[in-house]
Amino acid sequence: MNAIPDIPNSFEGKVPQGFVNDVNGWAFSQGELDRNKGKLLTLDIDFGNHCSLNCPHCFRRNNRADFGISRVLQYDDAVEIITQAKKLGLRSVKFLGAGEPFENLRFLEFLRFLKKMDVIPLIFTKGGLIGDDSQVAKWYSHYGVFTGRELVAELVKVNASILLGFNSFDTDVQDKMVGGVSGYTLKRNRALELLVDAGFNKGNPTSLALICTPITNANIGEVFEIYKWGRERNLHVVTCPTMVSGRCSNEAWASITPCEEGLVGLYTKIYLFNIEKGIQTLGQIKNEGIASYAGAHPCNQIACGMYVTLSGKVLRCPGDDVTVFGSIWNDSLENIWLNSGNFTRQGTFNCGCPPKMGKSIPLGLFGKVMANLERLG
Ligand code: SF4
Ligand code: SF4
Repeated sequence: MNAIPDIPNSFEGKVPQGFVNDVNGWAFSQGELDRNKGKLLTLDIDFGNHCSLNCPHCFRRNNRADFGISRVLQYDDAVEIITQAKKLGLRSVKFLGAGEPFENLRFLEFLRFLKKMDVIPLIFTKGGLIGDDSQVAKWYSHYGVFTGRELVAELVKVNASILLGFNSFDTDVQDKMVGGVSGYTLKRNRALELLVDAGFNKGNPTSLALICTPITNANIGEVFEIYKWGRERNLHVVTCPTMVSGRCSNEAWASITPCEEGLVGLYTKIYLFNIEKGIQTLGQIKNEGIASYAGAHPCNQIACGMYVTLSGKVLRCPGDDVTVFGSIWNDSLENIWLNSGNFTRQGTFNCGCPPKMGKSIPLGLFGKVMANLERLG
């Protein structure tokens, strides 16, 4: 059954001039990268590992970096990491896990700490908790927060960007994609409506994104519809083939990833839509290059960021659980950063996606999409 959230269009026709193709705090423009060469502008960090869902493609379950974990990041460790990172230029933090970040009694406290440090939090969430008042009361009543609407009001105060999991409008398909949790999709939709009511999609750039990943054989037919629907509502849409870490390592990614021809067709349609809507011109796309996240801001995470996992290991990025730069238990964040491969890429605007390239992203994808745009755009 399709259940489409009740959200009005933000743009009639083209997006306004000066539209920023990003979500607040996610990536950095070429100018920002040039002005901040050598700085650690962003961090991904694991904050707890509780999660009541069971997504079959979860990149945090069975991950190789944390295998045999002996010591786990605690609240004070996370505060210390941010304090060190701030001295290295930190502007934003992404929460990817290791579970559902909202299922953590100290999460709001940490978000308030980040606000004091003038750091933008970007929160990956499946949204089920925000859309379920009984879950909000369970995890947030000690802050005097009892409903999804009250929780969203707190997220406004800490200047958060919300990256909401969104793989399908179809409740059966979507419930299955989080591990067969009946009723999940309707809660996710309510979360989206609450966030829009609170103005998360009003800014330029927007502070609200739909995370439509991974692109699989099961959902490739629906991704373009979600992309258009989201973009027309000023929701940044992030879509890409699967990570090759966690449950999708060891070639498991190959069985769910669509063929190259299917991916080329999807990426081409998305970029043509961007041109038609004024989100990007053909000239901008040629200049920036095709992004690993189709139609979205190119990833420069591995030129100005790192990923600190639950076990204190520091990795290249969340899509790579084998390239380890160090451990926060043995070294300062500054030393790890200055000796990392990411530091050597400083200033690079479009890093592509080395972990997925030649695996879930076919080697010829970006070139074939660009050739199509030059012919059709
Ligand atoms: S992908 Fe996220 S929401 Fe899904 S099981 Fe993993 S941690 Fe939980
Ligand atoms: S390099 Fe690829 S996997 Fe890593 S953060 Fe960027 S898009 Fe994600």
